[in-house]
Amino acid sequence: MSIYRNVQAIIEDIRALQPKQEVKILAATKYADEAVIRELYQAGIRIIGENRVDELLKKQEILKDLDLSWHFIGSLQSRKVKRVINRIDALHSLDRLKLADLIEKYRETPLDVFVQVNVSGEPTKHGLSVDEVLPFVQHLASYQKIRVIGLMTMAPFTDDETRIRQTFQTLRALQERVQALSIPNCPCQELSMGMSNDYKIAIEEGATIIRIGSKLFQ
Ligand SMILES: *Cc1c(COP(=O)(O)O)cnc(C)c1O
Repeated sequence: MSIYRNVQAIIEDIRALQPKQEVKILAATKYADEAVIRELYQAGIRIIGENRVDELLKKQEILKDLDLSWHFIGSLQSRKVKRVINRIDALHSLDRLKLADLIEKYRETPLDVFVQVNVSGEPTKHGLSVDEVLPFVQHLASYQKIRVIGLMTMAPFTDDETRIRQTFQTLRALQERVQALSIPNCPCQELSMGMSNDYKIAIEEGATIIRIGSKLFQ
């Protein structure tokens, strides 16, 4: 395993696709320990995505000498909000009003959030349905501590490239509808989509931040 080479391969893939948008790489580190994250840093990675509160807090403490951005990418339980919400730079998984209310209550400065959308409608996936997103972001306009910087989705678990692509296209179309509302504190210029198996498709469909796990560590 060469983390450096894996990161380089992804950077090369991005370059080859010649996207119009800037594409950032988030390293999903649920299976990575401290030493591996240091290697990621050496390879140029600056955004770390964790999906468990305790892991994030622990790794952040050990790695506080590095100038990393810490993003929370997993489902965030209400009872853990207070503990983690002032320790992160972005949240990719805002999926319910209750969570928004807790962020409003506990966060000290405005937080960059992605609204998570369950585009494919799979019952096992978190996220709002496509129809719920516009009323949801309109409601968030009055929240001082929430800045909707984008939308996030996970592609369906399938090899069917057409279905994966359609999922990303739907998220992008939804982003345009959100932007058309011109809501204050809701620039919604980012799309968090694409993982190890589908990031090239996601970039072609407008992803600005890809969340890569297994491909970095293979
Ligand atoms: C683990 C994880 C990823 C990365 O998945 P890979 O398929 O390993 O690249 C992306 N997003 C979320 C929310 C994750 O939990």
